[in-house]
Amino acid sequence: MPISSEACAALRLAFGERVLFEEPLSRHSSARIGGPAEAFLAARSVHDLAEAAQIAWEYDVPLFILGGGSNILISDAGIRGLVVHNRAEGLHFDGTQVLAESGVSTISVARRSVKRGLAGFEWAAGIPGTIGGAVFGNAGAHGGDMAGVVVYADVITPEGERRLSNADLAFEYRSSILKREPQRAVVLRVLLQLEAGDPDVLNARLEEFRDYRRRTQPPGATIGSMFKNPPGDYAGRLIDAAGLKGTRIGGAEISTKHGNFFLNVGDANASDVRALAELARREVREQFGVELELEIELVGEW
Ligand SMILES: Cc1cc2nc3c(=O)[nH]c(=O)nc-3n(C[C@H](O)[C@H](O)[C@H](O)COP(=O)(O)OP(=O)(O)OC[C@H]3O[C@@H](n4cnc5c(N)ncnc54)[C@H](O)[C@@H]3O)c2cc1C
Repeated sequence: MPISSEACAALRLAFGERVLFEEPLSRHSSARIGGPAEAFLAARSVHDLAEAAQIAWEYDVPLFILGGGSNILISDAGIRGLVVHNRAEGLHFDGTQVLAESGVSTISVARRSVKRGLAGFEWAAGIPGTIGGAVFGNAGAHGGDMAGVVVYADVITPEGERRLSNADLAFEYRSSILKREPQRAVVLRVLLQLEAGDPDVLNARLEEFRDYRRRTQPPGATIGSMFKNPPGDYAGRLIDAAGLKGTRIGGAEISTKHGNFFLNVGDANASDVRALAELARREVREQFGVELELEIELVGEW
């Protein structure tokens, strides 16, 4: 059902011409893939974010919060309802604590923390996307993850604002309560607890992690790891062993550098990437008896 005229009017009243219709989401995803958003708003502040969510809930408009679009495959048909692109980017340091608005880039939090001699977030220096997206999926790398640093997240739900503690967020491997109950709560801001450290040592560690990524991961338009690592193994190793590196469907390719990275090498559409993921899943199942589970989320109309 299209967005009602009452809902459009409420969005226009709150945000004026900033509300866009049929905005191509390929402009806002790391893989440069995705059809249009029925309605689209770039939220510049936590206030915008909360107000847009409240209007969507009040008028029964499906709501999708888009961070960096670095862990989702948006369908070619796009997303119906309201897509709110999170650009709330405030960041405050207080001793060893960091209060980040949810649209701030995870990489910039890592870099700025290191500059201030704060330890415990260097692992995040190569993770694209926003802090809100990182909390949602419990992003992690190099032995660290969001579960290890989050004190609390302030969220808004249809019932109002709430503060969720680290325990409330119920983090699991690449998951949190927010991911298991999607689109019920919008993360507004997050408090991180870091530790005092030596900026030179931390910077060296950050550069080491970035070097490792440059050596092992392909550059270009990608959604990062397609599949979760199955217990005791690596999805990339299995896809490589199945002989699939370099395989293409349409404009989508399994990277020749890393089997779990799928690239948009031309004009890939979402159905190319999905078909390639299905092919990899089938081959790995048939050859090794392992069922790969998607790490990325399929969003929109399929
Ligand atoms: C090159 C590359 C490397 C990567 N490496 C890693 C890695 O090492 N480790 C890792 O864990 N991930 C990695 N990723 C995946 C991705 O960067 C992370 O999962 C990231 O945290 C996603 O954040 P995002 O803002 O892009 O979320 P999006 O992709 O925009 O959204 C993901 C989900 O989070 C929800 N969401 C986003 N913001 C909010 C909010 N404020 N409130 C409520 N829900 C929200 C969205 O609605 C969606 O359901 C990589 C991706 C790429 C492209």
